[in-house]
Amino acid sequence: MPIRFRLNAFCAGFALWAGFAALASAEEACEPDKLGTARIAEVGTQGGLMIGLKTYPAAIPLADHEVILTFDDGPDQRTTPEILRALADQCVLATFFDIGAKVDALPLLARREVEEGHNVAHHTYTHPQPTLTFMSEAAARADILKGMIAVERAAYGQDFPDGEPTDLAKLKLHTPFFRFPGFADTADLRLWFGENNVAIFGTDLWASDWIEMTPDQELKLILGRLEKAGRGMLLFHDNRQWTADMMPGFLAELKKRGYRVVHVVAGAGTGPTVPAPAGWVSETGRVTGALKPRLDKNAPTRPAGPIPVLPAPVE
Ligand SMILES: [Zn+2]
Repeated sequence: MPIRFRLNAFCAGFALWAGFAALASAEEACEPDKLGTARIAEVGTQGGLMIGLKTYPAAIPLADHEVILTFDDGPDQRTTPEILRALADQCVLATFFDIGAKVDALPLLARREVEEGHNVAHHTYTHPQPTLTFMSEAAARADILKGMIAVERAAYGQDFPDGEPTDLAKLKLHTPFFRFPGFADTADLRLWFGENNVAIFGTDLWASDWIEMTPDQELKLILGRLEKAGRGMLLFHDNRQWTADMMPGFLAELKKRGYRVVHVVAGAGTGPTVPAPAGWVSETGRVTGALKPRLDKNAPTRPAGPIPVLPAPVE
């Protein structure tokens, strides 16, 4: 029996179906010289999940030379279509952590991401500056929920005939994945996501593409980091021109070097995850922990948690 019939959850079932359908159509259309999407990985979000080695001591299990592609901060009128074209040209699927306000401004682009088989996941409504940790917990929750509603309406066509939900528990998410802007989480929000079966995505590797660079510089940087790690979830920003310009060459290089793309969809249960290697430290915890007292003299100290924060290795 196909796995999808064993899933009760509407969201997980839909995501898995969409993933398989997209994979099937990508495979049909894909020439053997293209990168292609090698497999669909289900990840259960029941009770919450925290993954991505830059921030959390767990990751989605990947074989050597497997990568997951993720993009933040879109959609963008100019660069997102360029990224989508590069992905389609190589028949690969990705997860877009879209900003709700941008989705409201460009709903058709968010819809197109889903229609082309990608996930549209969540990244707040306003992408608050400097981060969510500078807001009250109530304001942070409201911003996140508003972003999720915008994505559900535009990308997945969900309407709200009885009014927009005011409680995350009452909102059905097609892709229950969230990434904190700046990786800056709080104990309260981690708990809230856990109670509502939303997975918190950090990332394993990034291209540092929030810094302006040439496409060639970015290509060398991300390939160098990937060759060192051998696998991992990668983070890019689909609103950066240098990333859009680099993407065709990057995907071609992945194919040449024998990498395989894994597409993650929401599944039943919890996980699977693999623990971080011994000696792991949170790289982003060090950065966000240092940022908060510097930017906000009156802020309480960052909530204590199970995440050890130690100096990160210099790259
Ligand atoms: Zn962001």
